[in-house]
Amino acid sequence: MELWQEMLRQSVDSGKDLVERFGFDKELADKLNKLFHIRVNPYYLSLIRYPGDPIWLQCIPDAIELEDQNASDDPLNEEADSPVPSITHRYPDRVLFLVTSQCSMYCRFCTRKRKVSDSTKINSKWIQDGVDYIAAHPEVRDVVLSGGDPLMVTDYVLERILSSLREIPHVEIIRLGTKMPCVLPQRITPKLCKMIKKYHPIYVNTHFNHPWECTPEAEKACAMLADAGCPVGNQAVLMKGVNDDADVMLELHRKLLKMRVRPYYIYQADLTKGTNHFRTPVRKGLEIMDKLRGHTSGLAVPTYVIDAPGGGGKIPLLPQYVLGRNGNDIILRNFKYEIYTYPDVQEEPAAPQQVVETKYRRRRKAQPAYARTKESRELEPVTK
Ligand code: SF4
Repeated sequence: MELWQEMLRQSVDSGKDLVERFGFDKELADKLNKLFHIRVNPYYLSLIRYPGDPIWLQCIPDAIELEDQNASDDPLNEEADSPVPSITHRYPDRVLFLVTSQCSMYCRFCTRKRKVSDSTKINSKWIQDGVDYIAAHPEVRDVVLSGGDPLMVTDYVLERILSSLREIPHVEIIRLGTKMPCVLPQRITPKLCKMIKKYHPIYVNTHFNHPWECTPEAEKACAMLADAGCPVGNQAVLMKGVNDDADVMLELHRKLLKMRVRPYYIYQADLTKGTNHFRTPVRKGLEIMDKLRGHTSGLAVPTYVIDAPGGGGKIPLLPQYVLGRNGNDIILRNFKYEIYTYPDVQEEPAAPQQVVETKYRRRRKAQPAYARTKESRELEPVTK
C-alpha cells in the first residue's frame, strides 16, 4: 500500500469520529454524515489552526447545512446534459468524464454532492460507457477527468483510462480535475508522474482556496506535476469566511504562481443544497477582482465566473473599466481609478444587404486549393 492510501485509511470519516474528536452531539453528527459523507484525511486535518478557521470551514460539517434542504442538488443541471451517467456534454467540443465518486476529502461546499462519496453512483461499466461515448463523438477534442477526484483511482486504473482515451484520434487534450495537490499532496508520486508523461498533452486543474493550503508538501506536488510536463491551473471557489477577502485572495494567487500553478478561475459559489451559507454577494467577487488586476502580475489574475444556474455554463464577470463614450472616444478607468480617453477607430456603417453579400463572397474565396488526403497526409490539389 502506498503512503497516500495508508493516510486515507486514517481519515476522520464517521459520525463517531466527529463526536470523539470534535465534541459533536451524536445525533447531529449522524445527521450531517448522512446528508453528505464526512472524510478528512490526516494531512488536511493538520492544516487546521483553530475551530472555525478557513480550513475547518471547508472540511468539518456544520449544523447550518441542515437548514438549506429546499435548494437543488443539481443547480447546474448537469444531469440534463448527461447522455450516459459518467459524461456531461455541455460545451460543443469538450466533455466532463466522471471516473470515480471518491475524494480524499469531502468538501462541505461540493457542488456535486449528489454523486460524490456514493460508490454506487459510478462503476466500471459506466467508465467504459464514457470511453465509448467519447469515441463515438468526433467533435470531442478535450476530455476533463473528474469525479470525485480522478486521482483517487490507482495508477493502474488511471493508466487504463488514459490509454483508452489516447487511442481515440480526435481526443486532443486530457485534463485532470484533481484536488489532490492541495488536500493530499502525497498522492503525487514519482510513479504517477512517470505514467502521466506517457499520455501528453495532459493538463492539471487543481483547487486551492486559501493561502494556508500552500504548504511545502503542496509546493512539491505541484512542482512534480509541472516537471512531468503538466501545465497546472487553479480553480478557487469564493466562500464566505474562507476567502472572501481581497488580501487573502491576493496572497493565495501570488503563492500559487510561486508554486508554478497558474490561477485559472475564481468561481462564485453555486446554489447547491446544504452549501448556501458559503455564498457571498457578487459585489464581493468584483471587489476582489478589482484588487487583483493591476495590483499584481497579470499571470496571477484568474477569471471570475458564475456557473449559470440551470446549465447556462460559465459567464465571466469583470469590474467596470469602460465608463462610457464621448462621441468616438471611449472613457476608461485604470486600476488606480484614473480616467483615460481612448480614441476609437471609426467604422463605416454597412448596409445589412452588403454584409450578407460580402460574407458569402469571402467564404467562396476561402475555399482551399490544396488539402491533405486522409491516406497519405500529403498536400494534394483540390478537385472541384
Ligand atoms: S474534491 Fe471536488 S468533487 Fe470531491 S468533494 Fe471536494 S469539491 Fe467535491
